[in-house]
Amino acid sequence: MTLNPNVRVRYAPSPTGDFHVGGARTALFNYLFARHHGGSFILRIEDTDQKRFNPEALDWLLNGLRYLGLEWDEGPDVGGEFGPYTQTERLDIYQRHCQQLLDEGKAYRCFCTAERLDAVRKEQQKNKQRSGYDRHCRNLDPTESAERANNGEQHTVRIKLPLAETITFQDKVKGKITFDYTNLQDAVIMKSDGIPTYHLANVIDDHLMQISHIMRGDEWVNSIPLHLLLYQSFGWQPPVMVHLPLILNPTGKGKMSKREGRAPDGRVLPVFVRSFEEMGYLPEAMINYLALLGWSLDDKTEIFSKIELIEHFSLERIKPSPAAWDYDRLDHFNGDYIRQLSVEALTEQLLPFLEQAGISATSETLSPITPIIQERIKTLSDAASQVDFFFVENLPDYDSAELIPKKMDAAQTITALQEAKSVLTTAEFEHDALDSALRTHAKSVGLKVGQMFQPIRVAVCGRKAAPPLLDTLAVLGRETCLKRIDQAIESLNR
Ligand code: GLU
Repeated sequence: MTLNPNVRVRYAPSPTGDFHVGGARTALFNYLFARHHGGSFILRIEDTDQKRFNPEALDWLLNGLRYLGLEWDEGPDVGGEFGPYTQTERLDIYQRHCQQLLDEGKAYRCFCTAERLDAVRKEQQKNKQRSGYDRHCRNLDPTESAERANNGEQHTVRIKLPLAETITFQDKVKGKITFDYTNLQDAVIMKSDGIPTYHLANVIDDHLMQISHIMRGDEWVNSIPLHLLLYQSFGWQPPVMVHLPLILNPTGKGKMSKREGRAPDGRVLPVFVRSFEEMGYLPEAMINYLALLGWSLDDKTEIFSKIELIEHFSLERIKPSPAAWDYDRLDHFNGDYIRQLSVEALTEQLLPFLEQAGISATSETLSPITPIIQERIKTLSDAASQVDFFFVENLPDYDSAELIPKKMDAAQTITALQEAKSVLTTAEFEHDALDSALRTHAKSVGLKVGQMFQPIRVAVCGRKAAPPLLDTLAVLGRETCLKRIDQAIESLNR
């Protein structure tokens, strides 16, 4: 690991909507890079789009980052040397810099009304021309422009792009990219309400906060020519640019959805960090999975702890090609991490999920059950539907036909259950003892093991798909098992 405290990277979200896993991947890569170098990971809130600002989104974001364990060194709540870290608290800084560009003739005031811009657009459409601002105000006399502004006339400020020029830059992941300014517009950098657009605020902050590397989603790459011109206009050195590969839908087609959907089997397909948390994905699994979405150490190592990721993370191993989201792979990782937990730790993590599902378990009542389901759950929220029958006095109604094994009838099933009862009345309630007693007895009365196990399972659990039977019996105990078998016999007699 090469330590370099000058590495300063930022995650700079705009809190307009829910915290998407795509954003979490960007935050993670920045975090890993900062920690790898012993540098700083900065959280900056880009809230200049006040129309779309959503205060709830800020909570989702901060909670999501905390759940993932991506602690930041500087940010709106923790402060830091380069604050404030919320852009709407830095408006005077942007105003000052914008004025500098105006004074130097690198930007200009645009007094065009929305109506005029609209008419221009329509005319361009009619004539099948490329749509965009026609640079009407670009050559206004600076004195006249200043006077009109002083008289309170509404205006925006636009950057003066080169009219014909190309720019080439080196992206750490994508390699060399060339843009032609001819195709671009004089973008608005300051809106008429005195709030900057993303471009101006982003560039100024990255410079003033001494950001060394910009690591962000691929969708921002088209802003580069404008940003580079801003750096140049201010006489600043741009940070190293790193654009992360797109995340695609599981089908491999199209950018990963911004909305949550459902799989054909009805399963929710989450895309927001808080949904993954609510479903019981462990942060360790999320981080491991997200890290491999566009980065790999050697194309074969799959399991990485956070410490290992920090140790190995490098920009050189970020892949330029898009990565498709894979729910099954994440489930597989989560299952793995769940199995690595101690019984005590898993029990504690499961309790709130059971409570949420209306199951009142405690550490004492749940811990004997935890090992039985540890192998079988993919998420913490899976547990409720597997353990519910342990926590009810009486099973909810179930279809008694489920009790009857194939090629048997109700009368034969009653006999099998009675035989089971005779074993369970005296057997020691422990896995191996129950196993041998039930098997031996089934054989001696001419039943196949399955013909005895299925009715017992349905009788005590209320369904066929349930955790391993013998462990289940051992935890439920003699009294409950016998009572439930009696109830099953009764229902078959009805
Ligand atoms: N505010 C932008 C966003 O919401 C930040 C893009 C960047 O990192 O430059 O993603």
